[in-house]
Amino acid sequence: MKVSKFGGSSVATAEQIKKVLNIINSDDDRRIIIVSAPGKRHSKDTKTTDLLIRLYEKVTNNLDYQSKKQEVLDRYQDIIDDLELKTNLLEEINQTLEHYITSLKNEPERLLDALKSSGENFNAQLIAAYNNEQGIPTRYLSPKAAGIIVTDEPENAQILQSSYDKIKQLRQYNEKIIIPGFFGYSESDYIVTFPRGGSDITGAIVARGVKADLYENFTDVSGIYRANPTVISSPEIISEITYREMRELSYAGFGVFHDEALQPLYRYRIPVVIKNTNRPEDPGTYIVHDREINRQRVVTGISCDKGFTSINIKKYLMNRQVGFTVKILKILSDNNISFDHMPSGIDNISIIMRTSQITGKEQQVLNAIRSECQVDELSVEHDLAILMIVGEGMSALVGTANKITDALAQAHINLKMINQGSSEISMMFGISNKDAEAAVKACYTNCYLQ
Ligand code: ASP
Repeated sequence: MKVSKFGGSSVATAEQIKKVLNIINSDDDRRIIIVSAPGKRHSKDTKTTDLLIRLYEKVTNNLDYQSKKQEVLDRYQDIIDDLELKTNLLEEINQTLEHYITSLKNEPERLLDALKSSGENFNAQLIAAYNNEQGIPTRYLSPKAAGIIVTDEPENAQILQSSYDKIKQLRQYNEKIIIPGFFGYSESDYIVTFPRGGSDITGAIVARGVKADLYENFTDVSGIYRANPTVISSPEIISEITYREMRELSYAGFGVFHDEALQPLYRYRIPVVIKNTNRPEDPGTYIVHDREINRQRVVTGISCDKGFTSINIKKYLMNRQVGFTVKILKILSDNNISFDHMPSGIDNISIIMRTSQITGKEQQVLNAIRSECQVDELSVEHDLAILMIVGEGMSALVGTANKITDALAQAHINLKMINQGSSEISMMFGISNKDAEAAVKACYTNCYLQ
């Protein structure tokens, strides 16, 4: 049994929806389908989810929201017309939006989640209706009926473990099942969305719940590139990657698959394939638990993300002082800051975090470190980028670090920090934001083009 998820661009127009249904209907194993909201039809277009967020902003600012609502309705009207669907779904969509707006006006966080969820919810109903009209027995299931019960934190739902037993029952259906992605219901019956891009998470939860043999994630590219295609023209596509490698790469910017979506799959080792709706015959990229190491491609992927800040601390004889790091980490946790890396020497330590974590709290944190830790030197570095070189084979083979540092040196890129975790599946380099693209190009050339 396969669970297949289709992203926003795959379900943005009637033409794309027809492609999706061809893919679904051509394989009896594709029994459970998760769909996103209609995404962008072209590069300048706006995703339906973003239209819904704008609608929310109008409502909460007490402005006339009718034209924004109309933009949402127009997206569905176009699809309904182009599919020549015989349905009164549009009136239902209008009534549902109005119902949310009037009933949740005084609970803005709930209203936002309810409106956002509508993008996927209406699309799933519409796609199911069309497939039925084509003579394929198809059932729309709301996340509640599917058993997707989540925590009650608006915009940041987490699946409740108890949901999985209910989701397992989805195996019983004989028709094709279509479930909207991106949201669940809390125990107190509120609609709660996953973080943005969260239809991937729904797909992963359902795949784990039904213990699928494969989770197919259809998008508009034929797999995961070894590096960002906006930096490297036509990068290679990775044929197989492990969950751990994927996690490291998506941490530093690989956006094709949501990083939270790996979690439900990891334990049950459910493989994922990233495939292209427009070229379903392409093999795609498999995300698996274990794979054979390809000696020609020891580095699986190169990613680089900007927008990090480092707090650098120096203190003579730091290594001999018991509890020094604990004090610093306590200050961070008191300020609700999560950090990502902590490279250290005998008398110095750097704490690296996303700049957004410390924005607005920087002076407070620095003052606390100064007064509580008696440091010799304290400085902050903004505009850092993190370059990640990822590959399961790196631990077994000598020379990758040399290859990378050589490439960076030749491109005159200053390495501010180097960190290699004990798992040896990744190397992290702290570089300046301005060097990010050049660093990826230099490493890509040295790893794959020579
Ligand atoms: N529609 C949602 C978003 O744009 C979720 C998704 O497409 O995965 O973030």
